[in-house]
Amino acid sequence: MTETVFCAVYARYSTNNQREASIEDQIRKCRELAATKGWVILDEHIYYDKAQSGTRTNMRHAFKEMMQTAMSNNCPFQRIIVDETSRIARNTKEALDIFSLLTYYGIHVYYVSQGIDTSHETAEEMITINGLIDSLYIRNLSKETYRGIEGQVLSGYNSGGKRYGYRSEPVYNGKVDIYGNPEADGYILKINPDEVDTIIRIFKMFGEQGYSAKKIATILNEEIKRTDAPTPPRGKYWCSSTILGSKKAFRGILNNEIYIGHYYWNRSFSKRNPENGKKKCIAKDSSKWIVVQKPELRIISDELWEKVKKRQKQLQTENSGAYNKSKHSYSVNLLTGLVKCGKCGGNIAIVSGGKWAKYGCSNNWNKGAAVCDNNIKLNKKDFERSVISSLNLNFDKNEHLDYLHSRVDEIIKNHLGQTNPKWRREALGDQLKKTEKEIANFINAIKAGIFSDIVKNQLEKAEKKKAEIEQFLAENQKETSILPEITRNSISMYLQDIRETLSLHPLYGRALLSKVIALAVLQPQIGSHVIDVNCKTL
Ligand SMILES: [Zn+2]
Repeated sequence: MTETVFCAVYARYSTNNQREASIEDQIRKCRELAATKGWVILDEHIYYDKAQSGTRTNMRHAFKEMMQTAMSNNCPFQRIIVDETSRIARNTKEALDIFSLLTYYGIHVYYVSQGIDTSHETAEEMITINGLIDSLYIRNLSKETYRGIEGQVLSGYNSGGKRYGYRSEPVYNGKVDIYGNPEADGYILKINPDEVDTIIRIFKMFGEQGYSAKKIATILNEEIKRTDAPTPPRGKYWCSSTILGSKKAFRGILNNEIYIGHYYWNRSFSKRNPENGKKKCIAKDSSKWIVVQKPELRIISDELWEKVKKRQKQLQTENSGAYNKSKHSYSVNLLTGLVKCGKCGGNIAIVSGGKWAKYGCSNNWNKGAAVCDNNIKLNKKDFERSVISSLNLNFDKNEHLDYLHSRVDEIIKNHLGQTNPKWRREALGDQLKKTEKEIANFINAIKAGIFSDIVKNQLEKAEKKKAEIEQFLAENQKETSILPEITRNSISMYLQDIRETLSLHPLYGRALLSKVIALAVLQPQIGSHVIDVNCKTL
C-alpha cells in the first residue's frame, strides 16, 4: 500500500502583469494536477498572495507563512503545488535557493505549467532553463507593449499618460470585445476647459509679470486655501517644481511643448530596481523621441511661449554659478528625508543651495505659507552637526575602533581582490568551477530532452567563458601584492569630525544615519526652534 501524499498550494496574483491567471485559476490548475497524481490537497494549507508584484518578496505574507510551516518540525504536507516557478521566485537564483532550502527540509515542489517536479534528479537544470526562457519572454513582452504604444502614438492616439490641461477620450470605430461590448480603438487627448485658464495664467505670471515659480505656487495655493481651486496635476497643493520642472528640462508645465501643440512621446522609460522593487524614471536619448504635431491641442501662443523661454534663459545665465553647485548638492545631503517639519509633517530639505546652503521645510519653500508657515532656515553644517552630535555615535571608543579597523581591512582586501593578481586568480578559480558546473547542467538538460537554441547558446557561452578563464590563469602565474597600510590611528583621525567624514560620502552617510535615526523633527518655537531626535533601538 502506498502512503498518501499531502500537499499545500501556493498562488500569487499581481495586477501589473496582464498575462497572469487569477488566484482561482491557479488553484484550480493545482487541484487538477493533484487529482491526476492521486495526491491530497490540505485545504487549510492553500496559501495565496494577492496583488503583490513578483519583484517584492518582502510583501508576500502568505508565502512566508507557508515557508515557515514547511521548515517546521511537524509540517503536515510533503509537497507544494504551484502553477509555475515565477509565482514563487522573481528570478532563477531565488528559485534555486528556495528549491535547495525546501529540498533540505524534505519538501518537494511541483510546478504545474512547466511540469517540473523537484523530486526529480534534473529539477535543478529544469529550473535554470525555465528561468532563462521566462526572463527572455518577459523582456519580449515589454518590447511588444512598447511597440503597441508606439503604433498608437503614430496613429494619433494618446499613449496613456495623464497630462495637465487635457483629458483622454475613447475613440470607438465599431470594434467589440469578446462580450460584445464596444471596445475603444484608442484614446485621444482633448483640451480640458477647466484647466486651460490656469495654464495660461501660469505662463503669463512667469513670462510677463516676472514672477518666480515659487511665487506662482504660493499664489495658487493661497487661492486653494480660500476657494479649493485651481486643482494641481498631482497632490493637494501646487509645488514650484510642478511649474518649472526639476533637473530634467522637459519636465514642468512651463517646459511642456504640448501647450504649443508638440506632442512628445518616448522621452523616458522606467526601470525596476531588483533590490527594492522600486521604479525609477530614466531619460532617453533625444534621437529616440517621437514628436507628433497636434495643433488642436495648442493652449499657449508662440509669442507667450517665447517670452517664457527668454526669461528662463536669462535666469539660467544669472544664476549659472550658484545654480550648478546647488543642484549638485541637492541630491546628496546628509539629512534629506530624515528630518520632518514639526508644523506640517513634510520633509526638511536643503532649500537654498550653494555656499550658504540651508535646511528648511520644503512645503514652506516650494508651496508657500498657505501650506506651511514654518519658515525657519538653518545653516547646513550647523544643523547637520547638531543632529549628529545628539546621536552619541561613540565612534571613538576603543572596542569600536578595533572593530572598524578589522572591518576596513577586510573590505580593502575584498575590494582589491579584483585587482590584486593573487586574489584575482583565486576568484577566477572559483568562477571556473562554477562555469564547469553550469556546463554540466546544460549537458544534463540536453540529455533530459531539452534541446533548444537557448540551451545551445548558453552552453556555447559557458564553454567560451571556461576557455577564457583557463587562458588567463595560464598566462598570469606570477604574483605581486601591494596593500595600503590602514592603522587604527588613521581611522581614529578620520572619525574626529564625524559630520565631515559622513559628508565626504553623503549617500553612505545618509544611509548610515537612517539606520540610527527613528524620527527627527524640526519644531518651530517663538523666536527659536527645537530639534527632537529619536534614535532607533539597535
Ligand atoms: Zn512645514
